[in-house]
Amino acid sequence: MKNISPSINNSETNPKPSNFIDLQVEKEKIRLEKEAGVYSQKIQHFSAPAEKLFTADQRENTTLLFGGLTWGHEHLVEGAFRGLGYKITAIPTPDVESFQTGKEYGNNGQCNPTYFTVGNLVKYLQDLEKKGMSKKEIVEKYVFVTPGACGPCRFGMYEAEYRLALRNSGFDGFRVILFQQTGGLNQSEMEAGLVMNMDFSLAVLNAFNMGDMFNGVGYQIRPYEVNKGETDKILQKNLDLMHDVMKEKKGYETTGVVEKFLSSIGVNNTVNHIGKFLDQLYGKHYIDGLNTVRDNFNEIEVDRFRVKPVVKVTGEFWAQLTEGDGNYNMFRFLEEENAEVLVEPIGTWIQYIMWQYKSSIRDRKAASNEEFSLPFWRLDKKLQSSIEYWTKVSKMTVAEKIFTSEYTKLQNAIGGTLHHLADQYELQRLGHPYYNTASGGGEGHLEVAKNIYYSSKNLAHMVLSLKPFGCMPSTQSDGAQAAVVEQYKDMIFLPVETSGEGEINAHSRVQMALGSARIKAKEEFSSALIKTGKNLDSMRSFVDACPELKTPMYKVPTTKGVIGTAANFVFHVSDLMDKKMANA
Ligand code: SF4
Repeated sequence: MKNISPSINNSETNPKPSNFIDLQVEKEKIRLEKEAGVYSQKIQHFSAPAEKLFTADQRENTTLLFGGLTWGHEHLVEGAFRGLGYKITAIPTPDVESFQTGKEYGNNGQCNPTYFTVGNLVKYLQDLEKKGMSKKEIVEKYVFVTPGACGPCRFGMYEAEYRLALRNSGFDGFRVILFQQTGGLNQSEMEAGLVMNMDFSLAVLNAFNMGDMFNGVGYQIRPYEVNKGETDKILQKNLDLMHDVMKEKKGYETTGVVEKFLSSIGVNNTVNHIGKFLDQLYGKHYIDGLNTVRDNFNEIEVDRFRVKPVVKVTGEFWAQLTEGDGNYNMFRFLEEENAEVLVEPIGTWIQYIMWQYKSSIRDRKAASNEEFSLPFWRLDKKLQSSIEYWTKVSKMTVAEKIFTSEYTKLQNAIGGTLHHLADQYELQRLGHPYYNTASGGGEGHLEVAKNIYYSSKNLAHMVLSLKPFGCMPSTQSDGAQAAVVEQYKDMIFLPVETSGEGEINAHSRVQMALGSARIKAKEEFSSALIKTGKNLDSMRSFVDACPELKTPMYKVPTTKGVIGTAANFVFHVSDLMDKKMANA
């Protein structure tokens, strides 16, 4: 019998054995193959089909499409890209129809976000066609920009899924640009349409960070607004304002004689990079914008005596972020059910990527063959390896610190009422006993760690984890959460699987869990009133006489062990009343 299988003795696909053991293994493998009648064959690796390029000369007539974030993040990204000279449009939030479209044109067995996001792009292009554009025009005038990865979960398949669905729906040749791919464009032959330089990176990071601020503040104010709908109105006004601030932002560039001189001595690019970096650290452009945003928000009147359970939403990256059918419109549903939602910032994810980088180089160093095979007297090599390792670690540590301090700076500029980002090393410490932190993919150990973090640090009455149907990492987390819940008896944790259907069932499960969270919040509020020895009416009268206490950006200090906004407010107002009495 002739059996054809790939083998490691293929010299074109595998390196030559480099030491004695490898050689013996190789010989043995060949012997066993012969014995079994198996013959090796040259492996034909898959290579992605050639993509039509997006080049600089097409920029003026080409619109970049993107999506998958919240409306706030997307609007700010639009502003940032417009400021960089691109035509850009965020495609609308995916709905059930997008999901169905994704299923119709995509592969079977994908995770739920793949169907929603892929289907959403196809649906948008089909809408353009319905409005009168031909397929050829659409393919020529639009490109889709999306982050890409090589896995380990289905995220690595997104690019292939986009291409397949586009081909199946008749948009063959439509360009999908992955962030890491554009670097492959040969800049010496032609200038890339999407230039990933320092201005690009800073603009995207700032837009993401400020999107987090808007998102967080919106969910913080809305449950307590006195006049219904006011928060959304001001939120929209502020987003438009900040969109324009981002659009007007000019990256630092030397000009005129200075530029000519610096170019002549070959340091102009370096000076520009330093200038951009310093401008990011010390510039006031965004800070001034966010201060105005804060003042606008302060026009909203809030009533913090409303007792509401705080619900922290975690889960898979896309499912916990999207504000539509992709998670059963869960945020608005929670608010309608009288809860205060604590949304997950993208900043945590960015910090997680940095943490992963450091963690992986530590692991690699520990397992490095080279480290063990070096003879003890090769101190020079050992020193060199140590220097390389510490250089990488130090660079990333500095990057982490800068990111955190920039993030906090923006939080303070918008009022300082938002929670600081959860510390990644604390999350690692909390999550590792239940979920191996070396295991990547999706949110990795974060789903488990965030549940423990927000519950045990008294930051939320309940944690709701939104997990897409078919998500491999979330399924693993579910198993680990059983052990977590067993250990932390007081925690109210609810995992909800999101798919295109089943909204009523999911909402009713959330309602049931919210019942317990509401009781917790009410007990906490009553206990706060008892401890302060004051009644609610006297407190309300005091607050009525201090309009500042009714503004949303007023920073209410938290009392140790107290979670709810209303209970914390009771303690604070009581302190203010006592101080006033003492000074009278
Ligand atoms: S984390 Fe889960 S839902 Fe998200 S891309 Fe990976 S497999 Fe899909």
